[in-house]
Amino acid sequence: MFNIPALDKLIHELSLLPGIGPKTAQRLVHHILRERQYSENLREALSAVEDSIKLCSSCFSYTDDSRGICHYCTTPKRRDDVICVVETPESVMQIEASGSYNGRFHVLHGAISPLHGLTPDKLKIKELSLRIDLLLEKAPQSKVEVILALDADLEGDTTMLYLAKLFAETPQVTVSRLAQGVPIGSHLDFVDHRTLGRALENRVRL
Ligand SMILES: [Zn+2]
Repeated sequence: MFNIPALDKLIHELSLLPGIGPKTAQRLVHHILRERQYSENLREALSAVEDSIKLCSSCFSYTDDSRGICHYCTTPKRRDDVICVVETPESVMQIEASGSYNGRFHVLHGAISPLHGLTPDKLKIKELSLRIDLLLEKAPQSKVEVILALDADLEGDTTMLYLAKLFAETPQVTVSRLAQGVPIGSHLDFVDHRTLGRALENRVRL
């Protein structure tokens, strides 16, 4: 610490970012101080994100659309009857990059983890149920496939079991999960696009 409140505060704030410890935070602050233009650009980028980015009111991924609904939800080019459920908006980008998916998305914003206070009501699970209810209300004869593309860890597995049970009583809904191929214990955001594409193609029904 420098014992200069403004500097120490910036180091502290940066060190709260994932993967950044106090040492890296100090290095970043040196860079920001050396490059005045960078500091200006960073400030502009942060305030643009703050002003324009919100969660899509349907799938809860990010959007800058003024109506609050993202292009994944509005484009007619995607299938309405397949919904890929992910933990984070970053996973939406990962699935897109695999080039193997052409349905809609739903972002839970986490996975069930009672130890960390993440109970099902803290995630966008109610909203997923509601979305599917609305789809089936509009077209009662239709079938909906829910693909669970969650992290291959304990929390991801717990969430998948919970969701499979939630839709078990609704015959119009089939629930599948990504095939093994995503290494156990790994986070989806770090899996390469080919592995993720293969895992999507070989998804298995729960
Ligand atoms: Zn959306």
